[in-house]
Amino acid sequence: MKNYRLRFLLFVAALVLALVAPAAGRPKAGAAAPQKARPPQSLRVYVFDCGTLHNSDPARYRFKKEELATMEMSVACFLVAHPKGTLVWDTGAVPDSSWTATGAPSEQHIVLPDSQQRDLTVRKSLQGQLAELGYSPANITYLVLSHYHWDHTANANAFAGATWMVRQVERDAMFAAQAPGTTQPATYAGLRNSKTVILKEDEHDVFGDGTVVIKSAPGHTPGHQVLYLKLAKTGGVVLSGDLYHYPEERKLDRVPTFDFNEQQTRASRMMIEAFLKQKGAQLWIQHDFAGNAKLKKSPEFYE
Ligand SMILES: [Zn+2]
Repeated sequence: MKNYRLRFLLFVAALVLALVAPAAGRPKAGAAAPQKARPPQSLRVYVFDCGTLHNSDPARYRFKKEELATMEMSVACFLVAHPKGTLVWDTGAVPDSSWTATGAPSEQHIVLPDSQQRDLTVRKSLQGQLAELGYSPANITYLVLSHYHWDHTANANAFAGATWMVRQVERDAMFAAQAPGTTQPATYAGLRNSKTVILKEDEHDVFGDGTVVIKSAPGHTPGHQVLYLKLAKTGGVVLSGDLYHYPEERKLDRVPTFDFNEQQTRASRMMIEAFLKQKGAQLWIQHDFAGNAKLKKSPEFYE
């Protein structure tokens, strides 16, 4: 009799665990939420829509309005999924927490700490786009920001539990008593205590197989970097960070007025152009409105 009661209690305990445990890990979205994504067989990259930035001042980029096909800028975020882990590259311009994604475009007005103002349209939250693929910030192995400007860091805090890969000069500037201009320090404050890998070499091979390589490309900011992806079907792709913004910068050799070091920017551009040639790789200019519009967006991907 005693034995029977013990077995019954164990059965009840197992039942309760089976019912409660999966619910605890379920995302808020509820019934529609997909299963947790499995690691892919080979490298892939997802392009997320992190909004459109309505730039109104081409002079900051040393252009006259008529020299540009459009003043609009795309804001792109990327998920790199490798068999050995995941990497988020750049986190957008508008924190998910500051608006509610309904499916309709949402107009956002941002006032930076130095009183500069920006207008954007956002359509999808970053975490919503991750969730659509079965990922949550807790599934992200590495966070890498091309650089510290506000339109790349908005959702950085969400990934404070990932391992952050950054250069010492960039990190020092981000957490200096006086943060650099065009930053939103509150959006990345959580990274201060993140597990951090300080990148010292010009190239860092993230997964050790040459398919995901962070490359130093300073100038726009002190520790600005770009990401090289060696994709099996697509071929080589370099995610530009802000090495360029408008594609016309590349043709007309213009450097923004607010770069940390213009000389360094020019040297980095020459180095990356040579690298692209050597690898036969494409350059995806993250803010290039027309170029970005042509890219497949998540849940489609490049492999
Ligand atoms: Zn920038």
